Order: sequence, then structure tokens, then C-alpha cells
Amino acid sequence: MKLALFGAEGKVGRALRPVLEQAGHEVTGIEIGDEPDVAGLDACVDFTTPEAAPRNVRAALEQGVSCVVGTTGWDPQPLHELAVARDLRLFVAPNFSIGAVLMMRFAKEAAAFFPRAEIIELHNEAKKDAPSGTARMTAELLGGDPAIHSVRLPGLVAHQEVIFGGDGQLLTIRHDTIARESFAYGVLLVLDKLETLPPGLTVGLDSVL
Ligand code: NAP
Repeated sequence: MKLALFGAEGKVGRALRPVLEQAGHEVTGIEIGDEPDVAGLDACVDFTTPEAAPRNVRAALEQGVSCVVGTTGWDPQPLHELAVARDLRLFVAPNFSIGAVLMMRFAKEAAAFFPRAEIIELHNEAKKDAPSGTARMTAELLGGDPAIHSVRLPGLVAHQEVIFGGDGQLLTIRHDTIARESFAYGVLLVLDKLETLPPGLTVGLDSVL
């Protein structure tokens, strides 16, 4: 596919680009200040900031290009109608790592058997939003408004624990992202299935697994 990558020079963008190219995609990197001129491309991928993503996605949809977005901390719902009206896909996932999606699935299953759970999410100090999109999505799946604890430190990449407490027992489900390439394989999977999704907004990698 011919792709635009918004945030190509970011931490995720730098890991993602070579994997997309090795898979045969043609990638044009778009950085802050560049004109988001994407007409004629097959899809846009965005890993930028919560401030930049809504503008980038709107510009892409208005130019007739579907979007795959990993940026967290923004609300894509207002762009659903625009995507539907143009018969385009807007795919947004707070976590493109397959292991993290499985962690959320297993946590949802465990929630039926434990009265209480809390979430600890740990990310690199540069992460701009807290709590993380993955933690918020996990909390939604668990129900009951579990507490979320956010840790921001150098040395971390992206990690999450869901701790369940019951009578005389604890269950901890943990996922560690140790390299940003882990997100790239989820993005490849979504690009592969993009045209099979319904027009408009789809949220979460679970919907393509
Ligand atoms: P980062 O290192 O700060 O990279 C963001 C990049 O976007 C920077 O190069 C930034 O440029 C660029 N940028 C800012 N505004 C832009 C614009 N208007 N157009 C194009 N590029 C623009 O952050 P990151 O760690 O790569 O993460 C990016 C986003 O992805 C964050 O929201 C993060 O939470 C999210 N994320 C999601 C997943 C997932 O699986 N869904 C995984 C990891 C991260 P400057 O540096 O010049 O400002």
C-alpha cells in the first residue's frame, strides 16, 4: 500500500517505518509543520500527539484517505460521521501489541471471578497522557470503575498489570512491551484487513484478531 506516516520521526514512528517498508508498503513520512498532502494514498497511519492526531485524521479523511491511528488521549468519535459519509475507515487502537490485547481479554475473563481489581500502568516518562489509553480501555472492560495507577519513569517502555484481589488469593496479569516493534505487527494486521472493516470508526485491535 502507499502510506503516509504521521509522526515518522517519533519513537514509535522510527520503529514502525522499517517494518512497514520490509512488508512491502511504500511510506511517506509526515512530520510536524509538513503539509498533510495525502490525496491518492491508500491509508494514513498516525502516531503523534493528542493535539495533532484529530487535525491529521480530519485532513486525511477530507482528502479521501482511510486512517489507522495509535495516538492515545483524544476522542475519535466526532470523526465517525465524516468517515462514514466518505465511505472510509477510521481504525483507532490504544494498543497495537497483540500480547496487550490478550492481557485485556484475560483480565475481562478473570473479572467475573474476583470482587476487586486495580490497574497499574507504567510508561516512559515522555508519554504525554495519563492514564494510558490501554488502562482506560481495560477499566471499561472490567467494569466497576477500578482504580488506575500511572507510573512515568525513564527506562520504561509500556507495561501494565491488572491485580485481582479475592479471599486469600491474588491474581496478577501482566504484559510488558520491551520494544516498539511490537506495535508494528498489529499495525500490519490492521492494514491488511482495513478494507474489510465497515466504514466509520472501529476501536481496538480485538476487532481484527
Ligand atoms: P513521540 O516520540 O513524542 O512521537 C510523536 C511524533 O509526532 C514526534 O516526532 C512529533 O514531532 C510528531 N508530531 C507532532 N505533531 C505532529 C503533526 N501535527 N504532524 C506530524 N507529526 C507530528 O511519541 P511516541 O512515543 O512515538 O508515541 C506517539 C503516540 O502514540 C502517543 O500518543 C502514544 O501514547 C501513542 N502510542 C500508542 C501505541 C499503541 O499501540 N496504540 C503504542 C505506543 C505509543 P516533534 O517531536 O517535532 O513534536
